[in-house]
Amino acid sequence: MNGKVFVISAPSGTGKTTIEKKLKEDLKNIEPIVSFTTRKPRPGEKEGKDYHFVSKEKFEKMIKEGEFLEWAEVYGNYYGTPKKEVFKKLKQGKNVLLTIDTQGAMKIKNLIPDAILIGILPPSLKEQERRMRKRKGLSEEEIRKRLNAAKEERKILFKFYDFRLINKDLKSTVEKIKKIIYNFSHQSS
Ligand code: ADP
Ligand code: 5GP
Repeated sequence: MNGKVFVISAPSGTGKTTIEKKLKEDLKNIEPIVSFTTRKPRPGEKEGKDYHFVSKEKFEKMIKEGEFLEWAEVYGNYYGTPKKEVFKKLKQGKNVLLTIDTQGAMKIKNLIPDAILIGILPPSLKEQERRMRKRKGLSEEEIRKRLNAAKEERKILFKFYDFRLINKDLKSTVEKIKKIIYNFSHQSS
């Protein structure tokens, strides 16, 4: 039996990276998939662990060669999910976790209708902005762009996602996600 696909999406500043890190430490029955991106690594990010960091030319070649299950342009950079790796793990009966944006999630839902989509939201726009500033490294222009994009992302989360969680208390959000994954996963992996 094939494994199950779980997708997590959240507007920037929600706490997605923090949550994902915690899930990776805690969950044994799910394999996180490392995406490819053309954006530059942030301080502390490691090649092959956080992302596969590639040039725009290399990414475009990969698109042409059909290497992505889905790809999208997010905040001016390309991001894509490697197809071969996802299918290999699913065939081995493993559950996979994709942490991708709402455009990518919609493509996955079309390709794999029984994928479980989990949307995470910040408690408020004000708190989202505060968390973005806390993380540092974003210009005013980037913060404005991300807050603006969040309105559309929010609509998609409400319309199409199987679950929506508000990331107020980090620990409780992580526990809720773990419960969803546990309840819906293919357990023999
Ligand atoms: P994202 O990946 O969604 O942009 P991050 O995981 O980088 O967000 O988190 C942005 C900031 O918010 C970080 O400083 C993180 O420690 C903080 N944060 C994450 N979750 C919470 C929470 N539940 N309560 C308060 N701060 C949080
Ligand atoms: P960041 O640059 O902050 O790591 O990610 C920016 C956005 O790109 C986030 O919403 C993240 O979930 C999304 N993202 C990361 N990897 C992928 C991917 O492979 N495909 C798509 N569509 N989005 C991705």
